Amino acid sequence: MPGFPSERFVNLSEWERNELLCSICQDVVNSPLVAQCCLQTFCRDCIHEWLNVRNTCPYDRSILNTTQLAKPPRILLNILAKLEIRCDFASNGCQEVLKLEELSQHSLKCYFGSGFCEKCFCLISESDESHKSVHNCVQSLLQLNRKSNQEIESLKQTLLSNTGVTDDQIGDYMLLDVNQYKSLMNEMKALKEENAITLERLERQEY
Ligand SMILES: [Zn+2]
Ligand SMILES: [Zn+2]
Ligand SMILES: [Zn+2]
Ligand SMILES: [Zn+2]
Repeated sequence: MPGFPSERFVNLSEWERNELLCSICQDVVNSPLVAQCCLQTFCRDCIHEWLNVRNTCPYDRSILNTTQLAKPPRILLNILAKLEIRCDFASNGCQEVLKLEELSQHSLKCYFGSGFCEKCFCLISESDESHKSVHNCVQSLLQLNRKSNQEIESLKQTLLSNTGVTDDQIGDYMLLDVNQYKSLMNEMKALKEENAITLERLERQEY
């Protein structure tokens, strides 16, 4: 992975930005390594990719190979670890700000990365992500509600066209295919229950 864009950090000082910059990707270093020639710091992936096709230092053009890369001093690693950064899935709506050392752990369990919102439990849709628009719980729940209503309506139509009766008349008719009727009614019941839960969740939102 290349570096972290500096705008993802909260309260990044000018000094930190300059000292922790990878001169290849121009972002804050990720898994840093130091070149022996000039003591410049680069992301592990950036400098390895560079030295795959060249044998000079990107900073001062000295001859450089991967054996001349060293771990950075502990103080630099400590400063990096404590920087505060926004979640990888901030554009999906995650508001978390974490220490850099906690970021990978958080990303693994972040609801916004798993595709589900942690507040409304709706799937954050592909379109939310690609348009980088912030996920909106109320909109998602309303959409879910609309979809269930449409499904209920189409099930009613199926029932009506298959049997010629509406769902409230249906009890009187004995000539129906009972199994078909039961499965349609169960499906409708499940959808209505799902709808009730959706509405309940909608009401709990504090907007
Ligand atoms: Zn880099
Ligand atoms: Zn160098
Ligand atoms: Zn997150
Ligand atoms: Zn939500």
